[in-house]
Amino acid sequence: MGSVADAAADRRPLRLFFIPYFASSHLIPLVDIARFLAVRGVDSTILATPFNAALVRSTVDAAAAAGLRIQLLEYPFPSEESGLPPGVENISALPSSECYKIDHAIPFTRPALEHLLGLHRPDAVVSDAHFPWTIDIARELGIPRITFGAVGLMAYSVSQYVWEKQSFKDVARDDELVPLPDLPHPLLLARSELPDFLLQHTVYGSAIEEVYDADKASLGLIINSFTEFEGIYLDYFRRVFEIKTWFVGPISLIDSESHRRGVRGGGVNPAAVENRARCLSWLSEQKPSSVVYACFGSWSQFSGEQLREMALGLEAAGHPFLWVVREADGTEWIPHGFEQRVKGCGLVLRGWAPQVELLSHAAVGAFVTHCGWNSIMEGVSAGLPMVTWPIGAEQFINEKLVVEQLRVGAKASDSIRSATDSNRTIVKATELARAIGSIMDAGEAAEGTRRRAREFAEKGRAAVEKGGSSDKALNDLIEDIYVWHDNRKTAAGKAVDI
Ligand code: UDP
Repeated sequence: MGSVADAAADRRPLRLFFIPYFASSHLIPLVDIARFLAVRGVDSTILATPFNAALVRSTVDAAAAAGLRIQLLEYPFPSEESGLPPGVENISALPSSECYKIDHAIPFTRPALEHLLGLHRPDAVVSDAHFPWTIDIARELGIPRITFGAVGLMAYSVSQYVWEKQSFKDVARDDELVPLPDLPHPLLLARSELPDFLLQHTVYGSAIEEVYDADKASLGLIINSFTEFEGIYLDYFRRVFEIKTWFVGPISLIDSESHRRGVRGGGVNPAAVENRARCLSWLSEQKPSSVVYACFGSWSQFSGEQLREMALGLEAAGHPFLWVVREADGTEWIPHGFEQRVKGCGLVLRGWAPQVELLSHAAVGAFVTHCGWNSIMEGVSAGLPMVTWPIGAEQFINEKLVVEQLRVGAKASDSIRSATDSNRTIVKATELARAIGSIMDAGEAAEGTRRRAREFAEKGRAAVEKGGSSDKALNDLIEDIYVWHDNRKTAAGKAVDI
């Protein structure tokens, strides 16, 4: 009988296929995970439509050129079937109020994905949660499916909790704060702070049910987080929803050199390279920890009125700022005389910024964020206190983790806000300036917030180092897939014996 070591040596590399969703905030971390697994000997293939493949091609090519087994495999985006214009393959190409339309394409991708998976027969499929029916394909092929959840585990847990308990069904007012008992953290949420799809039996009703069923039938869930940040939800999630989770983050701290190089995820944005040079040169002239970096993710948009308040708030806060606005935002909202007044102390950048690289720059001292999960993880990794300005999706839940539970940030506004574009209230310049002051200025409270943020960065670094919790989780994930296959073979053998 061979030893455990022999058995390990006998194992051929796993072949894993990855299916990212059509959003940069899902695509970028999943490609990173595919890459980190390739570093551990996995043969990684990412299935992507042409536009999305182009966004990450330079990252994948560089990894392959460095000797890793990683590749992109393209499949056509079902533009005609889904009624989306040709070339619109990512939510960033749609106005934020219409980004849900990208989901119309998902059912139509099934034949192509089914064909590719059947043709190549990988050992497992790592599927974004948005493609729940990949569980059926995996079953047919006799391979495990693993869910990639592009949000944090607190958000994942609270969403599933709210959906299963229908916690807001009989609540009269949208802005009423409702206690959600039995979660690991005490939590009060207003219905307006949750995305529509968790609340009603809309077109999403059956879809969300399918997503949670597929999660439960999968081998487990991969999350870009780390035990010291959200560990309290690991046991909860397993106990209540019976789903195993591997925390593999903070992703931006694994192989951090390569994250800092180039224009990660901005592969088709012509301004990205130029933006990088401009930011780095400007930051090099600023004092350590003096700059407020403000960026709101890859697809969110604000009204002109809100952008104007934001400009005035950043100016009034009195700290140098680097502010990323979208190209589509136009210029008519720029306050009169603003550019003159902030010359030298404010840089407004249009388009794609090399966010991970900027956050880790010594001159940056705080992060104004919309609380997208990747941004939260990247801010935490850089040890930065955050001003939280959630806009939609699960971002309000993330805000509660950052501000109320872990106390590494301050809210841009204390009023109850809405996750729906049409109901959004304006955050005033004075509110933003006050929030920035509360984490940047002198004083015990602000210093406490900054210290806790630095401590979480240390813990995040330890998690991804050799032997750290996330490093082990990546190994466990590989091992769990091997074990799944071993068990299957054993079960098949037994069936024959009988
Ligand atoms: N990002 C970037 N440059 C930008 C805007 C965004 O590099 O100008 C990256 C950011 O670092 C993060 C991702 O895009 O990795 C955004 O993901 P997040 O979950 O924060 O927000 P979403 O895009 O889903 O709103």
